[in-house]
Amino acid sequence: MSDWQRSGLCLCRSEELAGAGFCQRSEARQWSRGVGANRRASAGADGLILEICRQALRQRLKATRAQVLIVYDETGAGDVTTAEACAGEIWTQAVEVCALERIGHVEVLLALAMGFDRVLLQQLPAPDTAAVQAQEIELARAMGGSNRLDIFASAKQLCSGLAAASRMGGRWRTSPPAIVASRQGTARACAAVLLPEGYGAIPLPVDAPYGTLQLDVAACTKCQNCVWLCPTNALSLGDRTSDLLFVESHCIQCGMCRSICPENALQLEPRLLSSPDADARKSLHQAAPIYCLSCGDPVTDPRVMDRLLTRFLGSERRPAAPDRQRPTRLCRTCRVRETQQARNRRLANAELIHSEPRRGR
Ligand code: SF4
Ligand code: SF4
Repeated sequence: MSDWQRSGLCLCRSEELAGAGFCQRSEARQWSRGVGANRRASAGADGLILEICRQALRQRLKATRAQVLIVYDETGAGDVTTAEACAGEIWTQAVEVCALERIGHVEVLLALAMGFDRVLLQQLPAPDTAAVQAQEIELARAMGGSNRLDIFASAKQLCSGLAAASRMGGRWRTSPPAIVASRQGTARACAAVLLPEGYGAIPLPVDAPYGTLQLDVAACTKCQNCVWLCPTNALSLGDRTSDLLFVESHCIQCGMCRSICPENALQLEPRLLSSPDADARKSLHQAAPIYCLSCGDPVTDPRVMDRLLTRFLGSERRPAAPDRQRPTRLCRTCRVRETQQARNRRLANAELIHSEPRRGR
Protein backbone atom coordinates (compact mmCIF):
# COMPACT_ATOMS: atom_id res chain seq x y z
CA MET A 1 0.00 0.00 0.00
CA SER A 2 1.45 3.35 -0.94
CA ASP A 3 0.79 6.35 1.26
CA TRP A 4 2.09 9.50 -0.35
CA GLN A 5 1.85 13.10 0.69
CA ARG A 6 2.85 15.64 -1.90
CA SER A 7 3.51 19.25 -1.18
CA GLY A 8 5.21 22.25 -2.72
CA LEU A 9 7.82 24.13 -0.75
CA CYS A 10 9.04 27.58 -1.65
CA LEU A 11 12.68 27.97 -0.69
CA CYS A 12 12.90 31.68 -1.50
CA ARG A 13 14.94 33.16 1.30
CA SER A 14 12.84 36.24 2.00
CA GLU A 15 10.58 35.60 4.98
CA GLU A 16 8.33 38.42 3.98
CA LEU A 17 7.79 37.18 0.45
CA ALA A 18 7.45 33.55 1.47
CA GLY A 19 5.03 34.45 4.26
CA ALA A 20 2.92 36.40 1.82
CA GLY A 21 2.56 33.29 -0.32
CA PHE A 22 4.71 34.66 -3.11
CA CYS A 23 7.46 32.55 -4.60
CA GLN A 24 10.15 34.60 -6.32
CA ARG A 25 10.41 31.92 -8.99
CA SER A 26 6.80 30.87 -9.30
CA GLU A 27 5.95 33.44 -11.91
CA ALA A 28 8.53 31.92 -14.21
CA ARG A 29 7.12 28.42 -13.71
CA GLN A 30 3.94 26.57 -12.84
CA TRP A 31 3.60 24.39 -9.77
CA SER A 32 2.97 20.81 -10.81
CA ARG A 33 -0.61 19.55 -10.76
CA GLY A 34 -1.72 18.25 -7.42
CA VAL A 35 0.98 20.08 -5.47
CA GLY A 36 -0.29 22.29 -2.68
CA ALA A 37 1.46 25.38 -1.36
CA ASN A 38 3.37 24.97 1.90
CA ARG A 39 5.40 28.13 1.77
CA ARG A 40 5.11 29.08 5.41
CA ALA A 41 7.30 26.13 6.25
CA SER A 42 10.22 27.83 4.52
CA ALA A 43 9.96 31.03 6.55
CA GLY A 44 12.91 30.15 8.82
CA ALA A 45 16.06 30.57 6.75
CA ASP A 46 18.09 28.31 9.05
CA GLY A 47 15.90 25.26 8.58
CA LEU A 48 14.29 25.22 5.18
CA ILE A 49 12.55 21.92 5.69
CA LEU A 50 12.29 22.01 9.46
CA GLU A 51 8.49 21.99 9.63
CA ILE A 52 8.28 18.98 7.33
CA CYS A 53 10.84 17.17 9.51
CA ARG A 54 8.97 17.99 12.73
CA GLN A 55 5.79 16.60 11.25
CA ALA A 56 7.66 13.47 10.11
CA LEU A 57 9.13 12.93 13.56
CA ARG A 58 5.71 13.10 15.25
CA GLN A 59 4.38 10.56 12.78
CA ARG A 60 7.43 8.29 12.92
CA LEU A 61 7.35 8.05 16.72
CA LYS A 62 3.86 6.55 16.48
CA ALA A 63 4.48 4.19 13.53
CA THR A 64 6.83 1.37 12.62
CA ARG A 65 6.61 1.89 8.86
CA ALA A 66 9.63 3.42 7.13
CA GLN A 67 9.36 7.05 6.09
CA VAL A 68 10.95 8.48 2.97
CA LEU A 69 11.51 12.05 1.89
CA ILE A 70 11.68 12.71 -1.86
CA VAL A 71 12.85 16.17 -2.87
CA TYR A 72 12.57 17.28 -6.49
CA ASP A 73 11.72 20.24 -8.68
CA GLU A 74 9.31 20.64 -11.55
CA THR A 75 11.57 18.73 -13.94
CA GLY A 76 11.33 15.64 -11.73
CA ALA A 77 7.57 15.73 -11.19
CA GLY A 78 6.94 13.17 -13.97
CA ASP A 79 9.41 10.66 -12.45
CA VAL A 80 7.81 11.07 -9.04
CA THR A 81 4.33 10.43 -10.43
CA THR A 82 5.58 7.32 -12.25
CA ALA A 83 7.40 6.01 -9.17
CA GLU A 84 4.33 6.32 -6.98
CA ALA A 85 3.04 3.15 -8.57
CA CYS A 86 6.05 1.14 -7.38
CA ALA A 87 6.03 2.32 -3.73
CA GLY A 88 5.63 -0.43 -1.15
CA GLU A 89 4.70 -0.34 2.54
CA ILE A 90 6.26 3.00 3.25
CA TRP A 91 5.05 6.44 4.13
CA THR A 92 6.37 8.91 1.59
CA GLN A 93 6.61 12.67 1.72
CA ALA A 94 7.27 13.98 -1.80
CA VAL A 95 8.22 17.65 -1.74
CA GLU A 96 8.53 19.74 -4.85
CA VAL A 97 10.78 22.73 -4.26
CA CYS A 98 11.29 25.84 -6.32
CA ALA A 99 15.12 25.84 -5.91
CA LEU A 100 16.52 22.32 -5.69
CA GLU A 101 20.11 23.59 -5.54
CA ARG A 102 19.36 25.01 -2.07
CA ILE A 103 18.91 21.56 -0.59
CA GLY A 104 22.33 20.87 0.92
CA HIS A 105 23.90 18.61 3.50
CA VAL A 106 22.20 20.45 6.39
CA GLU A 107 18.68 19.77 5.07
CA VAL A 108 19.50 16.13 4.30
CA LEU A 109 21.02 15.52 7.74
CA LEU A 110 18.08 17.24 9.41
CA ALA A 111 15.63 14.97 7.58
CA LEU A 112 17.59 11.82 8.47
CA ALA A 113 17.92 12.81 12.13
CA MET A 114 14.26 13.82 12.44
CA GLY A 115 12.02 11.03 11.32
CA PHE A 116 12.98 10.07 7.78
CA ASP A 117 14.65 6.69 7.24
CA ARG A 118 15.83 7.63 3.78
CA VAL A 119 16.16 10.72 1.61
CA LEU A 120 15.88 10.54 -2.19
CA LEU A 121 17.12 13.66 -3.89
CA GLN A 122 16.66 14.49 -7.56
CA GLN A 123 19.94 15.05 -9.38
CA LEU A 124 20.47 18.56 -10.67
CA PRO A 125 20.80 18.58 -14.48
CA ALA A 126 23.31 21.43 -15.02
CA PRO A 127 26.94 20.23 -14.67
CA ASP A 128 28.09 23.11 -12.42
CA THR A 129 25.20 22.85 -9.96
CA ALA A 130 25.39 19.04 -10.14
CA ALA A 131 29.04 19.20 -9.04
CA VAL A 132 28.11 21.32 -6.00
CA GLN A 133 25.24 18.97 -5.21
CA ALA A 134 27.62 15.98 -5.43
CA GLN A 135 29.91 17.68 -2.85
CA GLU A 136 26.97 18.29 -0.54
CA ILE A 137 25.86 14.66 -0.86
CA GLU A 138 29.37 13.39 -0.16
CA LEU A 139 29.51 15.59 2.93
CA ALA A 140 26.09 14.45 4.16
CA ARG A 141 27.16 10.81 3.73
CA ALA A 142 30.38 11.39 5.69
CA MET A 143 28.46 13.10 8.50
CA GLY A 144 26.16 10.16 9.19
CA GLY A 145 23.96 9.86 6.10
CA SER A 146 25.76 6.95 4.43
CA ASN A 147 23.41 4.19 3.12
CA ARG A 148 20.39 6.40 3.77
CA LEU A 149 20.72 8.89 0.95
CA ASP A 150 20.23 8.37 -2.80
CA ILE A 151 20.30 10.57 -5.87
CA PHE A 152 17.86 9.85 -8.66
CA ALA A 153 17.77 10.98 -12.27
CA SER A 154 14.95 8.71 -13.46
CA ALA A 155 11.79 6.99 -12.24
CA LYS A 156 13.67 3.66 -12.29
CA GLN A 157 16.34 4.94 -9.90
CA LEU A 158 13.67 6.41 -7.69
CA CYS A 159 11.89 3.04 -7.55
CA SER A 160 15.16 1.31 -6.48
CA GLY A 161 15.61 3.86 -3.67
CA LEU A 162 12.04 3.28 -2.51
CA ALA A 163 12.55 -0.49 -2.58
CA ALA A 164 15.63 -0.14 -0.33
CA ALA A 165 13.65 2.09 2.04
CA SER A 166 10.85 -0.44 2.39
CA ARG A 167 13.27 -2.70 4.32
CA MET A 168 13.96 -0.02 6.94
CA GLY A 169 10.86 -0.14 9.17
CA GLY A 170 10.75 -0.77 12.91
CA ARG A 171 10.73 1.42 15.99
CA TRP A 172 12.28 4.87 15.74
CA ARG A 173 15.15 4.94 18.23
CA THR A 174 16.81 8.25 17.45
CA SER A 175 16.51 11.26 19.75
CA PRO A 176 15.90 14.53 17.88
CA PRO A 177 18.87 16.86 17.46
CA ALA A 178 19.13 20.27 19.12
CA ILE A 179 18.29 22.83 16.43
CA VAL A 180 20.47 25.91 16.78
CA ALA A 181 20.66 29.24 14.96
CA SER A 182 23.60 28.40 12.70
CA ARG A 183 23.38 25.89 9.87
CA GLN A 184 26.78 24.46 10.83
CA GLY A 185 25.63 24.01 14.42
CA THR A 186 22.46 22.24 13.33
CA ALA A 187 24.42 19.93 11.03
CA ARG A 188 26.81 19.09 13.90
CA ALA A 189 23.86 18.30 16.16
CA CYS A 190 22.36 16.04 13.48
CA ALA A 191 25.70 14.28 12.96
CA ALA A 192 25.89 13.65 16.71
CA VAL A 193 22.51 11.91 16.47
CA LEU A 194 23.33 9.90 13.33
CA LEU A 195 26.91 8.84 14.04
CA PRO A 196 27.87 6.34 16.76
CA GLU A 197 28.24 7.86 20.22
CA GLY A 198 31.72 9.33 20.91
CA TYR A 199 32.69 9.11 17.24
CA GLY A 200 35.88 11.14 17.83
CA ALA A 201 37.28 12.75 14.68
CA ILE A 202 35.98 11.84 11.23
CA PRO A 203 37.88 12.98 8.11
CA LEU A 204 35.70 15.02 5.75
CA PRO A 205 36.02 15.76 2.03
CA VAL A 206 38.14 18.68 0.83
CA ASP A 207 36.25 22.00 1.04
CA ALA A 208 33.98 20.79 3.85
CA PRO A 209 33.08 23.74 6.12
CA TYR A 210 34.14 21.89 9.28
CA GLY A 211 37.64 21.18 10.49
CA THR A 212 40.75 22.11 12.36
CA LEU A 213 44.00 23.97 11.70
CA GLN A 214 47.51 22.59 11.77
CA LEU A 215 50.04 25.19 12.89
CA ASP A 216 53.75 25.01 12.14
CA VAL A 217 54.81 26.35 15.53
CA ALA A 218 58.43 26.85 14.45
CA ALA A 219 57.35 29.03 11.51
CA CYS A 220 54.71 31.11 13.31
CA THR A 221 55.97 34.51 14.44
CA LYS A 222 52.74 35.40 16.29
CA CYS A 223 52.19 38.36 14.01
CA GLN A 224 48.43 37.99 14.71
CA ASN A 225 47.34 38.62 11.09
CA CYS A 226 45.26 35.45 11.08
CA VAL A 227 43.44 36.43 14.27
CA TRP A 228 42.39 39.79 12.90
CA LEU A 229 41.15 38.31 9.64
CA CYS A 230 39.21 35.28 10.94
CA PRO A 231 35.53 36.05 10.22
CA THR A 232 34.09 33.72 12.85
CA ASN A 233 36.38 34.41 15.83
CA ALA A 234 37.54 30.81 15.70
CA LEU A 235 41.03 32.23 16.29
CA SER A 236 41.84 34.48 19.23
CA LEU A 237 44.81 35.46 21.37
CA GLY A 238 45.65 34.24 24.83
CA ASP A 239 45.40 36.98 27.45
CA ARG A 240 49.01 37.01 28.52
CA THR A 241 50.96 34.54 26.44
CA SER A 242 49.69 35.78 23.00
CA ASP A 243 49.21 32.13 22.11
CA LEU A 244 46.93 31.43 19.17
CA LEU A 245 43.73 29.98 20.62
CA PHE A 246 41.34 28.04 18.40
CA VAL A 247 37.74 26.82 18.72
CA GLU A 248 37.14 24.11 16.14
CA SER A 249 33.34 24.32 16.14
CA HIS A 250 33.57 28.00 15.06
CA CYS A 251 35.85 27.32 12.10
CA ILE A 252 34.21 27.21 8.65
CA GLN A 253 37.49 26.32 6.88
CA CYS A 254 37.27 29.48 4.76
CA GLY A 255 41.07 29.55 4.46
CA MET A 256 41.46 33.30 5.03
CA CYS A 257 43.93 32.72 7.88
CA ARG A 258 46.04 30.49 5.64
CA SER A 259 46.02 33.05 2.82
CA ILE A 260 47.10 35.95 5.03
CA CYS A 261 49.81 34.07 6.92
CA PRO A 262 53.18 35.48 5.81
CA GLU A 263 55.03 32.42 7.07
CA ASN A 264 52.79 29.80 5.43
CA ALA A 265 52.43 28.33 8.89
CA LEU A 266 48.77 27.25 8.72
CA GLN A 267 47.15 24.28 7.01
CA LEU A 268 43.46 23.34 6.94
CA GLU A 269 42.31 19.87 7.94
CA PRO A 270 38.63 19.18 7.14
CA ARG A 271 37.16 16.88 9.76
CA LEU A 272 34.25 16.51 12.15
CA LEU A 273 35.19 16.42 15.80
CA SER A 274 32.63 15.34 18.36
CA SER A 275 31.58 17.71 21.16
CA PRO A 276 32.67 18.88 23.70
CA ASP A 277 36.22 18.79 22.26
CA ALA A 278 35.10 20.78 19.23
CA ASP A 279 33.75 23.56 21.49
CA ALA A 280 36.88 23.85 23.67
CA ARG A 281 39.27 26.80 23.26
CA LYS A 282 42.65 25.20 22.64
CA SER A 283 46.12 26.62 22.23
CA LEU A 284 47.77 25.90 18.88
CA HIS A 285 51.17 26.61 20.46
CA GLN A 286 52.55 23.89 22.64
CA ALA A 287 55.67 25.71 23.95
CA ALA A 288 55.69 26.52 27.67
CA PRO A 289 55.38 30.27 28.28
CA ILE A 290 57.93 32.49 30.03
CA TYR A 291 56.82 33.22 33.56
CA CYS A 292 57.01 36.55 35.41
CA LEU A 293 60.17 36.81 37.53
CA SER A 294 58.18 38.51 40.27
CA CYS A 295 54.73 36.93 40.60
CA GLY A 296 55.16 33.75 38.51
CA ASP A 297 52.21 34.40 36.12
CA PRO A 298 52.76 33.54 32.43
CA VAL A 299 54.11 36.55 30.52
CA THR A 300 54.66 35.56 26.92
CA ASP A 301 55.88 32.94 24.51
CA PRO A 302 59.67 32.26 24.29
CA ARG A 303 59.72 33.21 20.60
CA VAL A 304 58.05 36.55 21.27
CA MET A 305 60.49 37.12 24.13
CA ASP A 306 63.34 36.40 21.77
CA ARG A 307 62.10 39.01 19.30
CA LEU A 308 61.62 41.53 22.10
CA LEU A 309 65.11 41.03 23.42
CA THR A 310 66.60 41.34 19.94
CA ARG A 311 64.79 44.63 19.45
CA PHE A 312 65.60 45.83 22.95
CA LEU A 313 69.25 44.82 23.09
CA GLY A 314 70.24 44.94 19.41
CA SER A 315 70.82 42.18 16.91
CA GLU A 316 74.22 41.30 18.33
CA ARG A 317 72.85 39.99 21.56
CA ARG A 318 75.49 40.96 24.08
CA PRO A 319 75.39 38.97 27.25
CA ALA A 320 72.87 41.36 28.70
CA ALA A 321 73.03 42.51 32.23
CA PRO A 322 70.22 40.80 34.14
CA ASP A 323 68.82 44.15 35.29
CA ARG A 324 68.40 45.23 31.62
CA GLN A 325 66.55 42.01 30.81
CA ARG A 326 64.43 42.07 33.92
CA PRO A 327 61.65 44.46 32.69
CA THR A 328 60.95 42.23 29.69
CA ARG A 329 60.56 39.24 31.98
CA LEU A 330 57.91 40.82 34.18
CA CYS A 331 54.17 40.75 33.68
CA ARG A 332 52.54 44.13 33.06
CA THR A 333 51.38 44.62 36.66
CA CYS A 334 54.76 43.80 38.18
CA ARG A 335 56.57 45.91 35.55
CA VAL A 336 54.44 48.97 36.40
CA ARG A 337 54.89 48.37 40.14
CA GLU A 338 58.67 47.94 39.91
CA THR A 339 59.02 50.96 37.62
CA GLN A 340 57.03 53.05 40.10
CA GLN A 341 59.09 51.78 43.03
CA ALA A 342 62.34 52.58 41.21
CA ARG A 343 61.04 56.08 40.44
CA ASN A 344 60.06 56.63 44.07
CA ARG A 345 63.52 55.52 45.17
CA ARG A 346 65.17 57.95 42.75
CA LEU A 347 62.95 60.79 43.94
CA ALA A 348 63.66 59.97 47.59
CA ASN A 349 67.43 59.91 46.92
CA ALA A 350 67.26 63.23 45.09
CA GLU A 351 65.35 64.78 47.97
CA LEU A 352 67.92 63.43 50.39
CA ILE A 353 70.80 64.92 48.40
CA HIS A 354 69.11 68.34 48.23
CA SER A 355 68.13 68.40 51.88
CA GLU A 356 71.60 67.51 53.30
CA PRO A 357 73.29 70.92 52.79
CA ARG A 358 70.29 72.68 54.39
CA ARG A 359 70.60 70.39 57.45
CA GLY A 360 74.33 71.24 57.67
CA ARG A 361 73.68 75.02 57.87
S1 SF4 B 1 49.42 34.78 10.46
FE1 SF4 B 1 50.82 33.02 10.50
S2 SF4 B 1 52.69 33.79 11.49
FE2 SF4 B 1 51.04 35.25 11.93
S3 SF4 B 1 50.21 34.55 13.93
FE3 SF4 B 1 48.97 33.60 12.32
S4 SF4 B 1 49.93 31.60 11.99
FE4 SF4 B 1 51.42 32.85 13.09
S1 SF4 C 1 39.76 28.82 8.21
FE1 SF4 C 1 38.51 30.71 8.31
S2 SF4 C 1 37.11 30.38 10.04
FE2 SF4 C 1 38.74 28.84 10.23
S3 SF4 C 1 40.23 29.82 11.60
FE3 SF4 C 1 40.89 30.28 9.48
S4 SF4 C 1 39.96 32.29 9.05
FE4 SF4 C 1 38.91 31.44 10.86
